[in-house]
Amino acid sequence: MIRIVDVETERTPADYASDTVLRRSVREMQEETTAAVAALGGRTVWMVNSTASGGGVAEMLPKQIGMLRSLGVDVEWGVIEVDSPQFFEFTKEIHNRLHGTGSPEITEAERERYEAVSRDLADALGERLAPEDVLVVHDPQPLAAGALAAAEMGCPSIWRCHIGSEERSPASRAAWDFLEPWIARYDDAVFSLPAYVPEFLAGEATLIPPAIDPYSAKNRPLKPQQAAHVLARAALVETDHPVPQFDGVAQRLQDDGSYAPATEPADFGLLFRPTVCQISRWDRLKGFVPLLEGFARLKREAASDAGTENDSEGGRSAEHRRRIETARLALVGPDPSSVADDPEGREALAELEAAWHDLDSDLRADVAVVLMPPDQFESALVINALQRCATIVAQNSLREGFGLTVTEAMWKRAVLVGSDTGGIGTQLREGTDGRLIPDAADPESVAATLDSVLGARGKWDDWSLNAQRRVTEEYLLFGQVTRWLDAIGSLLE
Ligand code: UDP
Repeated sequence: MIRIVDVETERTPADYASDTVLRRSVREMQEETTAAVAALGGRTVWMVNSTASGGGVAEMLPKQIGMLRSLGVDVEWGVIEVDSPQFFEFTKEIHNRLHGTGSPEITEAERERYEAVSRDLADALGERLAPEDVLVVHDPQPLAAGALAAAEMGCPSIWRCHIGSEERSPASRAAWDFLEPWIARYDDAVFSLPAYVPEFLAGEATLIPPAIDPYSAKNRPLKPQQAAHVLARAALVETDHPVPQFDGVAQRLQDDGSYAPATEPADFGLLFRPTVCQISRWDRLKGFVPLLEGFARLKREAASDAGTENDSEGGRSAEHRRRIETARLALVGPDPSSVADDPEGREALAELEAAWHDLDSDLRADVAVVLMPPDQFESALVINALQRCATIVAQNSLREGFGLTVTEAMWKRAVLVGSDTGGIGTQLREGTDGRLIPDAADPESVAATLDSVLGARGKWDDWSLNAQRRVTEEYLLFGQVTRWLDAIGSLLE
């Protein structure tokens, strides 16, 4: 079945353009898309994916659809609904294989089931489509259904792959081999980064990087007082003033292994100390443990360096040393009980907890392991406030798809330290928009990069200004919608 999802347009281009920082990007979008919108005539663009909530695709689609409609494009959003749990288990395995894990073996029964379900879906989709419509299908779940329906109706069609992996292994090759004949039936395929394009599409695919909505709860402007207020409401900073707390506040790992509101056992100093902050899912590949170990190494090394005045020898200045001595590290992620069915996340968090318990007690006080408030909207506000209040935002991923956390922090003019993997090095240009950690798995490499950034106060403003400009030019919703209309326009030519 195909379920039509309602989308409310939250903001029009004019709303965004009233912000002077955004005005130019909005204008450029309006100018550059006029021809493509006209070329579409009255055609409907159909976006089809597998879920209306949860995950990056479901978060981005409503914003894109809202913006396309504001520009005069007729857009519909359809979600596939399938009774068979085995179908989604299989497509999840395909996803994992594309990331290089799992068995390369795809059985005949699995292929037949995928195809049979897809044929039913294609019939349902075909009932909605008109021959002149444009079909945009997201990810492997509706891939075959879209291919069949587009062929049946004669619609121009695009497959959008959100899965980003540079992985090439027997498992990933098996998955691409399985998908290839279906992808081949589309007129175009869209990927986030060049490295994610499979060999059989080399030179043919279209690239559209992910993008952020600058006015979502996670990214919208917050005045200093508003950011402080959000942190107080989440119990991330202590205050004597009567601030109503969120229903569920942020929780911080305590010495006895329990979690308590993050102001326990004492205020962490988020607003007044140099804070390094990483916010990610609890996933080993996000590099939380080597980040913690690198931070601890830097603190120990600076402590043993204390008292030696080596300004003149090119060593650390007194200010640089003081910054390291007072620095703190916040490692932040979702409350595992708010994320359904994520045993791997729980394991990764347990490993980080163990690494934290292994620290000396004085260092433990300098590192906070924090769980976000469970409510999505409140947690988005907390991410916003933390990225604005942190002295350094870190993303020490061992492997990464695109790294939206980096985009979000760059947009807020944070000082960024990221690892050189996946989309992070594409977004964050070393020495221009911040610094890249040469080897995220190596605590010494992490320590050296943090050290150099904490010592480079004079560069912070340049880096953060460049970072925001980079996001404005490359990774905002407006550029993304422009690229989509370009892709659709070329198809219609
Ligand atoms: N995020 C969140 N809550 C968390 C941790 C992360 O909402 O506790 C968000 C984060 O702000 C970003 C997204 O989840 O928007 C993560 O995207 P990214 O590309 O960085 O990594 P992924 O999780 O897709 O591997």
